[in-house]
Amino acid sequence: MDFKHIPHPAPMAADARDAALADPGFGSLFSDHMVMIDYDEAQGGWHSARVCPRERIALDPAAAVLHYAQEIFEGMKAYKTLEGGRALFRPEQNARRFNRSADRMAMPNVPEDVFIEAVKQLVKADQDWFPTVEGGSLYLRPFMFACEPFLGVRPAKQYKFCVIASPAGNYFKSGVPAVSIWTSEYTRAAPGGTGEAKCGGNYAASLVPTGQAFAKGHDQVLFLDAVERKWVEELGGMNLFFVFDDGRVITPPLTGTILPGITRDSLITLLREEGLEVSEEMYSIDQWRDDANSGKMLETMACGTAAVVTPVGKVCGSYGEFTIGSGGPGQLTTKIREKLVGIQRGRVEDKHGWVLKLD
Ligand SMILES: *Cc1c(COP(=O)(O)O)cnc(C)c1O
Repeated sequence: MDFKHIPHPAPMAADARDAALADPGFGSLFSDHMVMIDYDEAQGGWHSARVCPRERIALDPAAAVLHYAQEIFEGMKAYKTLEGGRALFRPEQNARRFNRSADRMAMPNVPEDVFIEAVKQLVKADQDWFPTVEGGSLYLRPFMFACEPFLGVRPAKQYKFCVIASPAGNYFKSGVPAVSIWTSEYTRAAPGGTGEAKCGGNYAASLVPTGQAFAKGHDQVLFLDAVERKWVEELGGMNLFFVFDDGRVITPPLTGTILPGITRDSLITLLREEGLEVSEEMYSIDQWRDDANSGKMLETMACGTAAVVTPVGKVCGSYGEFTIGSGGPGQLTTKIREKLVGIQRGRVEDKHGWVLKLD
């Protein structure tokens, strides 16, 4: 697929941009361009791929996404490597997961090569938008939504696929050493639902529980399973790993109600490389509390593209309140984070072919 290039007629002034890039925060600063590809069933599918100025999107008030929430997205990062080049981390995994989400939401697939090319083209167009802050990266947000004006309930016949870019510093405001989490009585995903799809609707439903966690002074919300209300599933946007004193590590299994994180998948490999015995196993909140209190469970880590690997220091809520380890970052969490970030930035050997170098 050929991408038409429409350069921004008035990109942000270099001095204003560079000032913003020194402290970009997360999710509120955007680059000059975006990728847009249109889909129309009547025109044979995807067409009019372009890299164009980032601008507003006009929608008909009857656009299906505004009524029935046919929308999916991905979250990935472009990194500046040690040699000064730019790289993506396992982008084919994002492309694959995007299409699995599309299948669940009755949306058309975006061919994997088109998805990756779209991301590459945007990184190239906005290569001056990498943050200068330590640990910064260019966060990329591919997404797709139904734009057909139609109020009947059926899959739409028109969609837009877009990619926008947002320079990102640290995900957690304070650069917190360890996060505190709140166990919600709301649930995120039920068997047979959309828990393993990365769709906007899952996030809409998580806003009230997340708001409660924030209001009580916590950094993230923890969701338990929707059936027995006892099995630990994941945080609002991060998967979990539990580290034990005998060299075992547990992460909840992909039973359909948790999001199959690419960071999760990478950590399973990296932890095994460290000689740890990793199993995908159900783990209950009661067991977690007991193991944390007895000292059998040493560390808990939360992981995802946005926050990378973050230690969980404290768990609160109606299922009990407990501290993990000393409440700060544990040894393995710190080590594995360094290893993952090292691979992404080219400081550590990429044994698995995870890094896709650009330019
Ligand atoms: C995106 C996401 C994750 C993390 O996935 P990564 O591929 O590691 O970024 C975890 N949980 C939820 C609910 C998510 O949406």
